[in-house]
Order: sequence, then structure tokens, then C-alpha cells
Amino acid sequence: MKFYSTKRIAPDVELKEAVITGLPSDNGLYMPEKIRKLDDDFIEGISDLDFPELAFRVADRLLEECIPTVALRDIVFDAINFEAPLVKLNDNLHCLELFHGPSLAFKDFGARFMARIMSYFMKEESQKLTILVATSGDTGGAVAKGFYETDIDVVILYPSGKISDLQEKQLTTLGKNITALEIQGTFDDCQKLVKTAFLDQSLRNQMFISSANSINIARLIPQSFYYFRAMAQLEDNKTPVCCTVPSGNFGNLTAGLIARKMGLPIGHFVAAVNSNDVFPQYLSTNVYQPKPSVPTLSNAMDVGAPSNLQRIQDLYGSKGSDIAKRISSWSYDDASTRKGIQEMYEKFGYVACPHTAVGYLGMKQHLKEHPDQQGIILSTAHPAKFIDIVEEALGQKVELPDALAELVDKQKDSIVMSTDYDPFREYLLSRSLVS
Ligand SMILES: *Cc1c(COP(=O)(O)O)cnc(C)c1O
Repeated sequence: MKFYSTKRIAPDVELKEAVITGLPSDNGLYMPEKIRKLDDDFIEGISDLDFPELAFRVADRLLEECIPTVALRDIVFDAINFEAPLVKLNDNLHCLELFHGPSLAFKDFGARFMARIMSYFMKEESQKLTILVATSGDTGGAVAKGFYETDIDVVILYPSGKISDLQEKQLTTLGKNITALEIQGTFDDCQKLVKTAFLDQSLRNQMFISSANSINIARLIPQSFYYFRAMAQLEDNKTPVCCTVPSGNFGNLTAGLIARKMGLPIGHFVAAVNSNDVFPQYLSTNVYQPKPSVPTLSNAMDVGAPSNLQRIQDLYGSKGSDIAKRISSWSYDDASTRKGIQEMYEKFGYVACPHTAVGYLGMKQHLKEHPDQQGIILSTAHPAKFIDIVEEALGQKVELPDALAELVDKQKDSIVMSTDYDPFREYLLSRSLVS
């Protein structure tokens, strides 16, 4: 099976090229040529499988012929080595906790799977691969952990002083194949350095570089696995199901749409967004108007031009009103988000991160109109990752999980660099000579 570009200009490619190049040359996004349905019998029996086995069966159906079954099984079992528990809030409301991986956010699923797929394909190559990532916080941590101790080199660029202490420690304390460059500038400066490197043909002739961008198809595919896991854990499989996804770049939601296309019976989706409301505007007006992002409490969703919209349009057509038949979308500001965190705690004793609280608000709105349905809210990050916001909203302390607590005393190890391209380029070349 091949992968095509949503813009349909660039040629179709094999999975290896889609994963290693990341983006097609026409600026579209890669999509699988076929999204095959799973048998009804299989769907009915998903509760009998454990998570890695279920994920493997889904992956195998989707990636048939792309990777030999035995190799794919190893990749999936190695990547999906933590649970996605479904926590019951009340009879028709659940949270799917996606934060039990190493960096405590759902991005671990994508990063771990992509790292292993890339390693697999790089075994055939004589050159070493170096991944360049610019991060404003969360992605860097998941990528660092996801690629840690693989045979791929990772260079992470982050803006000095502009990410939280714990986020910085997640990037700067691993060592081995993970290097953190502390750039004396903004996130945009970091992105610019990475972009310049990708356009630098003479650098690319000397070393093999790639990105771990969130739009990489290898990050998207594993995110469909946990929708299956969610449905497998529901006690009631008669009441229609709606999934609410706190959304920024809409990768998480797109993975859910793929799961549904494979036959998973999710009736409806809600894309809950913060004040960055380009998507709900588009659904209600049919006009897609990207805007500069505005900062909010749910900062991993501060996106003004969601890149996966191209994939959603590829699945459902480009009319907002057609998409709105399958996906509802509402926007919530910071004051509502704080209230959402408080309400989840007061009503259900559940401590949620700000992103999850936005998801809760979307679910509440949907269930008000559809009380005959049951809801699954995707709980995208551990609340302790946003400890200041959550503690302030609840007026009480939140405990740090071990994975974060042990970072506090670790020594940060970063290489400080200016925003100039030349020293960055020289640094990359000096590394590639060593390895
Ligand atoms: C990345 C992220 C999101 C947004 O996910 P998209 O796939 O970009 O829509 C939501 N919550 C958290 C905690 C995230 O890290």
C-alpha cells in the first residue's frame, strides 16, 4: 500500500519515504491509500484482547504489506507498553487517560511508534539519521523520551527561558542520543533554524536529517489504537458513543476519524478548542480563516492554522457544513477552562489538566443536546504537567508523579546557542563526523 499527498500533486510513496521525509513536496500531508475496514467479528471481540495485541491487529490491518507482520508486531509491542485506562466519571461519562507514558501526555504514543518505525527503516541504510525538532514544550519531551536509546540521533531546539522548568528537564537530562540546544531566542527562531537546515542542500549532502513533526503519518497512526482500546473498556456497548477531543493541530481527532473509518462504532466526535477558534468558525461559516495563535491555559492547543485540517477535508470534503454533520466543535476561553477544572473535581473528584477540562466542556454541551448518548473525553495530559494552573483553579496541592518528581533534582545539560544559522550548522556537521 502506498501513501498519497492530500494535495495530489506529489507522487505516491511507500511508507518508508512518507515517514522519513515527513512531508510531501507539494506541502500536502500523507494519507494511506486505503483505510481498510476490520471485520465486525473482530470489533465485537476487542474486549478480549490486551492493549498491545489490539493495537497490533489494528496496525496490521492498516499497514498490511508496508512492514512484515513479525517486524510490525515487535514495533507495536515495544511502542505500546503502557495502558490507556478508561476512567468512569458517571454512568454515561468517561475519561480516556492517555498520559501514562514516559512524558505523561498522549504524544508519547505517536513519538514512541514513530521512533521504532524510523529505526526499522534505517536499518537498511548505511548512514545515521539525525532528527531535528524545534519545541515550545510538550512535543520535545515526548520525542526525547520516544527516541531515547534508539540508534537515531536527536537534536532538540528550545527557546531559552520560555518553557517550564520541568519541561526543560524532560529535554536536558537524558543524554546519550538526545542533545538539547538552548537557543537564545523564541520558539519561532528555533523553528527557523530547523527550516533553514532542511533547505540547506549542502548540509543535506553531508548528513541525513529528518524531522519528528506532528504531521508525520507515523505519529498519526498509533493514535488510532487508543480509540479501539477505549471502546473495548466500555461496559455498555449499546448506548451510542461520542468522543470529545481537546484539539490544537487536530492530529488526535484525525486518528479517531481513521479508527471510525476502520469500523469502530463511534457515533459522533466533538472537537473542543480554546480561544483559538478557527475550526468551529469554519464549520459554522464554511470559511476557513487561519489566524495567529493566542496564548491560553491549554497551551498545547494554541494553534491558529491547524495542519491536520487537510486530512479531515480529504476524508469528508472541504465544506465546513458537511464536516459539521460528523464533528461538532465549540470554543472555550480561559475563565471557562478554570471552571471546567473546578467542576470536574467537585462533581467527580477528578483532577484534570486544562486541555482535558476544555474537552469536558465540549462533552457537557454535546450531552445536553443528546442525553441518550454516552461520552468519552480524551484526557490528554497528566494534570501535574500544568501544576500551577490546576493548583490555582482547585485551591489545593496536586501531587507530582514519580516521573516528574525525579526530574527536579536532575542536572540540566544543554548547549547554549545564538539564533545565527552558521554556528548551528557547524555544530550539526561536527556531530555527524563523530558518529
Ligand atoms: C498536543 C496536545 C493537544 C492537541 O492535540 P492535537 O493532536 O494537536 O489536536 C491537546 N492536549 C495536549 C496535552 C497536547 O499535548
